[in-house]
Amino acid sequence: MTMPLTHGEIEYYSRQLKLPEIGLHGQEKLKNAKVLCVGAGGLAAPLLLYLAAAGIGTIGIVDKDTLETSNLHRQVLYRYAQRGLSKIAVAKRELLALNPAITVELYPLDLHPDNALDLVQNYHIVADCTDNFATRYLINDVCFYARIPYLYASVQQFQGQCSLFAGHVGPCLRCLFPTPPQAGVIPRCSEAGVLGVLPGLLGTLQATEIIKWILQQGQSLHGKLLTLDALNMEFKQFNLPKNPECKLCVYRTPIKELLKSTTETIRYAISAQGLQKALQHKKNLLLIDVRDPEERDRDNPLGGRLIPLAVLANYLSDFDPNQAIVVYCHSGLRSQMAVKLFLHAGFAYVKFLQDGLIGWKKETLLT
Ligand SMILES: [Zn+2]
Repeated sequence: MTMPLTHGEIEYYSRQLKLPEIGLHGQEKLKNAKVLCVGAGGLAAPLLLYLAAAGIGTIGIVDKDTLETSNLHRQVLYRYAQRGLSKIAVAKRELLALNPAITVELYPLDLHPDNALDLVQNYHIVADCTDNFATRYLINDVCFYARIPYLYASVQQFQGQCSLFAGHVGPCLRCLFPTPPQAGVIPRCSEAGVLGVLPGLLGTLQATEIIKWILQQGQSLHGKLLTLDALNMEFKQFNLPKNPECKLCVYRTPIKELLKSTTETIRYAISAQGLQKALQHKKNLLLIDVRDPEERDRDNPLGGRLIPLAVLANYLSDFDPNQAIVVYCHSGLRSQMAVKLFLHAGFAYVKFLQDGLIGWKKETLLT
């Protein structure tokens, strides 16, 4: 059912109603649109404000985090005094204070394969404002099956990327990057850092593309990838063809099968914090360092038994398959491969240190 604009709304949007690309008809389209924003951090902060101010009638926000001091330099929707509060609860208050005519729906949860499709189907378009690959690929996959477009954006240090994916009518994220990178290959913002204004720029681009898509005006980023290097202020656009071998949008592989590799990675990972706790409680936890001897000579903060990955297969019979084992390396890549070797040999309690010694040193420096 289409809802017409009230007199108050006509006054509120008067400056954009003058645009021939919007007008009363376009503004009603915005009012009747439902946009789901996954993540309430740096990308979402400007995106939510601009969507609310533009008059998007229904905005859903998915996030269960609370506000931390280290969020504030880029998540400018929030205030210092609001630290410790639920981000989405604060966001709703701020958005309704900006535009009381809209509706804001909150979902304090993590998206996972069992809830994502049901949630996404209630919306017309999704904004990917997450910073983790598992959720990012899940959004891509469920939006394809729900036949809903979504705005992708990612940021790191001074660089960002943005695209509009609609796998049912064009390329999807898996056409560009078929699988998520393995843990430790691409550091998160918390490790590599990010200029605070960068998610601001990218979130604003996402909001612009969402508004244009709803209005069906202009040239969208559908089928294109926009890259931004803020340090040199370079914007580039690349055409994205559909990958004729895409497992999702061409071969229609079921979501759970696609996500299996990601889920497995998470299942066998232990964080630096988790390992610290495990070492305090489990006296029989065996640590195995699968780096090369030269790396070990340079630093050896954990003191595990050294068995380089290249020769690990020859030593598996040294261990009890019921022994709890944590394997580690420099960044978490080789140790993931080591876990596969152990699992294949029938070991039941083996994990790898996520982000490797890089993550371990950061965690131990902090505590
Ligand atoms: Zn695809």
